[in-house]
Order: sequence, then C-alpha cells, then structure tokens
Amino acid sequence: MSDINIDNWWLPFTNVRAFQDNPRIFSRAEGCFLYKQDGSEVLDITAGLWCCNVGHGRREIADAVHKQLMTLDYAPPFQFGTPPGFEFAQRITQHTPADINRVFFTNSGSEAVDTALKIAHLYQHARDKGGKQRFISREQGYHGVNVGGTSMQGLPTNRHGFPVLDRVDFLPGMLDISRNAFSRGSPAHGTEEMAAAFENIVAMRGADSICAVIIEPVSGAGGMVPPPQGYLKKVRELCDKHDILLIFDEVITGFGRTGSAFAATEFDVVPDIMTTAKGINGGTVPMGAVLIKDEIQQAIFDAAPNTLPEFFHGNTYAGAPVAAAAGLAAMDIYEQEGLLTCGSGEKGKYWEDALHSLADLPQVIDIRNYGLLGAVSFDPMELPAKSLGPKIHQRCFDNGLLCRAVGDNMVMSPPLSISHQEIDLFISRFRQSVTEVL
Ligand code: PLP
Repeated sequence: MSDINIDNWWLPFTNVRAFQDNPRIFSRAEGCFLYKQDGSEVLDITAGLWCCNVGHGRREIADAVHKQLMTLDYAPPFQFGTPPGFEFAQRITQHTPADINRVFFTNSGSEAVDTALKIAHLYQHARDKGGKQRFISREQGYHGVNVGGTSMQGLPTNRHGFPVLDRVDFLPGMLDISRNAFSRGSPAHGTEEMAAAFENIVAMRGADSICAVIIEPVSGAGGMVPPPQGYLKKVRELCDKHDILLIFDEVITGFGRTGSAFAATEFDVVPDIMTTAKGINGGTVPMGAVLIKDEIQQAIFDAAPNTLPEFFHGNTYAGAPVAAAAGLAAMDIYEQEGLLTCGSGEKGKYWEDALHSLADLPQVIDIRNYGLLGAVSFDPMELPAKSLGPKIHQRCFDNGLLCRAVGDNMVMSPPLSISHQEIDLFISRFRQSVTEVL
C-alpha cells in the first residue's frame, strides 16, 4: 500500500474508485523496467504508453534537457523562434517522405490531430474548395481527446456523451479475426471491403463535400491491427481519385514502431499530412507535431494576407526548447542505435516468432504483429466480453509484466531498445500469467 495521498489527482482513462482500492504506483524506471514503490521490477512491454521507445532513464536525454534548461529554458514561439526548435524540425524531416518538410509543433498527439484537421480545412478554403467540410475516419480508430479528435473517434465509449462534429463518416474497422487470424505482418483480407465502403461514402455525400480522410496506418488503441495488404495504397488511390486529403495519424506508428521511421515509409504511401507525438522525444517531455506537405503550406500562405499570421493557431509550449532538446538527444539515440528500423530487421523477426509461440495458450483466437507491435486476442468464453483482458492484465502486473488490455486483446509495444533476453522474459511472464488465470 502506498504511503502517499492519492485523493487529489484525477487520473485519466482510469476507474479511479478501483484504483483507490488497489493503487498501482511506479516510482523509478530504467531501461525496459519500471519499479514499484516496494522496489520490485515490472518489465515494460508497452514502452510506457507507446512512447518510451529508446528505453527509460536515458542519461543522454536527461543531460540535454538539463543543459537546455540552464541555457534557454523558454522563449515564446509566437513570432519568435529558438535554435533547438528549428534544428529538431529539420532533423525530423530527414526521416519523412520527400515532400513532407513542414513541421508544426504541439504538446500532444491530441493537439496534433486537431491541428491537422484545421490545416486540412484551411487548405481547402485556400484553394476555393470551402465546401469540403466533411471527414472520413474509421471504426476502432483512436485520434485523441480534443473535440476534433473525439469527433473522429471510432471507439464509441470515447465519443459517447461528448459534443462532437457531426460531419464524419466511418470506414469499417480492420480487425477481422474470422478471416485474418494468426497473420504475420499485413493480413490478406479487408482491402476490397474498405474500398467499397469508401466509394459508398463518396457516393452518398459527394466528393465536393469531403475534406480529408484520417486513419492510423496501424490501428493502435483499437487493438493493434495492421492494415491488410494493399490497404493504404488503395486509400491513397481513392483520395487522389476524389480529390480528398489523406491524413495519417502516426502518433503511435511514428519513430520506429513499424520498422521504418514512419509508417508512411514502411508502407510506401505518402499522405498529405501526418500527426505524431509519443516517441518524438522518447516519452520524456510532452510534445507532438503535425508534418505537412510543402505544397499544402504554400497554398495556405498564398491565400493569406501577408501582414497577418497565416495560421491563427498554436500552443504556448509549441516547440518548447526543452522538449526539442530532448527530441534532438532522442534522435541521436534512434539513429546511432538503429532503432528506427530495427523492427523490420532481425529484432522484428525475433519478436514475431516469440509472440506467435504463444498460440498454444488456452482461449487464444488470434496473434498479430507488425514491426515491434503485437497483440494476442482471447475468447472470454463464459465470462462477459472485455472482462478477461483486465484479469490477465492484473495478473501480468502482479507477475512483473506491464502490457495493455484493450477489451480481451492484450496489446504490446515494447521499447525499441528491448533485448532478445527481455523478449524471452516477456514471453515467460506472459505465459505464466495466462496459465494462472485460465
Ligand atoms: N492519435 C493516436 C493514434 C493515438 O494513439 C493517441 C494516443 O494514444 C493520440 C492520437 C492522442 O495522443 P495524446 O495522448 O498524446 O494526446
């Protein structure tokens, strides 16, 4: 039991009353491990919340943050700039597709999503297509918690009861266990159904009314679902055909998660706008970013009066020097240790084989993986739906393993710096926990 007062902090996405009965508090972290208050270790197979991609407690980042705080802690980003902000923006664009070179910093993925939606709107107005106001999102999609992102949510519990924009249609979700179970990488089925649904939406609403499609290249919070073969190329093709912008929400997939720096590169599809956050500086200082095609920024600039800001939008801490310094240090680690691409190499293969070795566990109905992402889905049998996942999650935690339950799917996204030995430890603790529950 904790000796600290836990009454005042209202935790996000948490059943607070259950938490108060069973507080789970971390007090230290290093490498791939978090440590509870009693000193016991927990193997972090979620990289915090898909963000601590370079592992915990990296001295290089801590030193860079300290140095930056003592050099220039803060300067306003409205009408002023700082060296780390410009340098980090440039470093990021060394890893984006060739036409995507403009970076608008935010403080989170949610802000990046709402910013991207505004930029898409502004662009349509700039080229006299202001009637294009609708969006297409996808069932099971997660796009953060601000009003725009909440409106794009394909997870009903995250929309229910909140004020949302009503001009949104949804493509079908990608999880199809009946046809794609136990696929490795991109599964075979689903692209044709998506294309048919896309065309139906366009036929129903009219292409002249649709501003943009927003999708996660790999569905994350919806249960870690890779796109079926050819899916993202087909989306790009349909967007081009109907003159609709394509936004990739790369808040999770950015910074090495899929085996390339960004999923856009991994799947060889260039979106018009990308959002990112999470791994941007290794989960150390809040930061997100919108990455924009040059021609979109240019069109917005061309349409704006040259005496005013081209974009009436921004956050106090946008591109904050400390966050950018952390990003530069994280980028050094990503590049020097080959972490941005390790998921498509030998480590990704080791991860895939390890994950699929769990297929003999009871009630497993699917295992899927991409890069250093993975999920194991369970049939809850006689239990109510979505109650087995939390039970396995708790048992894993008790046994020193942090993974994530999304309903009855156990979802994994280890630090990219994870070793083979730590992957083996994950497998043995997961196996033990599931065996104890079932
Ligand atoms: N978009 C996606 C795809 C995400 O997975 C998340 C967070 O998990 C967000 C947006 C929101 O990011 P944040 O929690 O930093 O606001």
